[in-house]
Amino acid sequence: MKTRNIAIIIFCFFCGAALIATLHIRSKISGRSLELQWKATLDDLDTHSSAAHIQSLRYDSYARQAATENDHTRQKLFLALAHSERIHEQMCKHATELFGGNYSAPYAGADLSTTTAENLRRSIDSARSQHSSSQGSAATRAIESGNRYVARILIWIDGCNRRHIELLEHAYDSLTASTGYLVCPKCGNTYHTESYDRYCPFCQTHHSDFKRF
Ligand SMILES: [Zn+2]
Repeated sequence: MKTRNIAIIIFCFFCGAALIATLHIRSKISGRSLELQWKATLDDLDTHSSAAHIQSLRYDSYARQAATENDHTRQKLFLALAHSERIHEQMCKHATELFGGNYSAPYAGADLSTTTAENLRRSIDSARSQHSSSQGSAATRAIESGNRYVARILIWIDGCNRRHIELLEHAYDSLTASTGYLVCPKCGNTYHTESYDRYCPFCQTHHSDFKRF
């Protein structure tokens, strides 16, 4: 009787171990097939999240420079843009993990922070160059692959980047100081505090939830 019980326990132990091993292998295969299915999309997400990470650090550095010049309007702008870029990085990171990929922030080398006027000029050139080289192509690829979730994120980011260019150009050209900036916490859309939508046109967040800088 005792021997029979021991045999049953051993049998149960091996069945359990086999079941765990099977589930583990299946989850690996499932994650791997997701990664293969969405490879182009994951590459686009990695490009966007890495660029947003590097740009957020640059804007942080430009905000510190503006503070040393007592240019608090541009300091607020750079802080708002850095926050917006971090939201974009997190959106892409979340989507990457959802579709079986991994994201780790790239190493960002030191960026030369000169005067605030020069930093604005460089920011405009960089944002324009990035925008003209992409032209929404990543969002188009996501739509064509049937991934509407990622397409929506990339369309939001593209729209936000156009807003960034407008705000940077205005800060570069205008002599009048803005009272501050607002950032949509869901998609990173950015506004002057004097002029904003009641609801974010991209994600429908109410303006009372916008983060103020
Ligand atoms: Zn929004």
